[in-house]
Amino acid sequence: MFEKVLQEIYKESKLQPKIGEIATYIPELANVNPDKFGISLLTLDGEEINLGDANERFSIQSISKPLTLSLAFTFLGEKIWERVGVEPSGSPFNSLVQLEYEKGIPRNPFINAGALVIADILVTHLKNPKTNFINFLREISDINTLDYDLSVAKSEASTGFRNIALANFLKSFGNITNNVDEVLDFYFHQCSISMSCSELNKVFYFFANEGVTLNGKEILNRSQIKRMNALMQSCGFYDESGEFTYRVGLPGKSGVGGGIVAMLPKKFIVSTWSPRLNSNGNSELGMFALEQLTTKTGMSIF
Ligand code: GLU
Repeated sequence: MFEKVLQEIYKESKLQPKIGEIATYIPELANVNPDKFGISLLTLDGEEINLGDANERFSIQSISKPLTLSLAFTFLGEKIWERVGVEPSGSPFNSLVQLEYEKGIPRNPFINAGALVIADILVTHLKNPKTNFINFLREISDINTLDYDLSVAKSEASTGFRNIALANFLKSFGNITNNVDEVLDFYFHQCSISMSCSELNKVFYFFANEGVTLNGKEILNRSQIKRMNALMQSCGFYDESGEFTYRVGLPGKSGVGGGIVAMLPKKFIVSTWSPRLNSNGNSELGMFALEQLTTKTGMSIF
């Protein structure tokens, strides 16, 4: 049922003016062709549509954050909220300012400060954090080739001065409990993972399917997955989360590699990739395509 509408959206998207810049603050990301564009949709009853560059892998960056959060939530449950909040920040993703007033408790798990705290929790609870985390993603998706892109991780480590500052600042408040370098290394690796739009949908399936993966594993229960989706709705797009909710009306998460994943719980998961970003770090064309999808089909959570 989605084939026709997605073909239409794909064609219209390709005709849009080329607005926005590729992220270059991570040097390795600057090597990507800015005009790549892919869209992939997977419904819970098994329909799958892939258009354009939907099968080409790219750097998922912050799209990794709901995945690390979900795994950390399986370890700590509601206690996790003692370390990180659930409020939209209204500030850029790499901001330090609110941390000073909020005594090292990041506003939410999707700004960089929050994601670093979640990385710290995983470093505490996983025996071999990087290996265990990538294996977790392989197991929930049955995609055994998922991996870190070591050149992207290295590239970010060499220029990640703000994240290094954030991690040290958090440590000064006691909200990083492990060695700062180890937490940063894990964080740079989680951001470096490559996936295609079509793979993202398979990995993120459990967010749309009440916590149960495509291969039938229950990661989180219904009430817990509600919390994850609520956070993506209110905090998934940095200081543009309100705008994304207003225009698209789906929970989701973006990354500076140009990817977006969004879902209509119990119905579908949709991913887009276009590396040109707007000034808030979100994919310009991806937001356009998703706005078209929910406008043309009338299918959003609102
Ligand atoms: N690794 C990136 C950073 O920490 C992720 C940013 C993003 O995708 O929003 O700056």
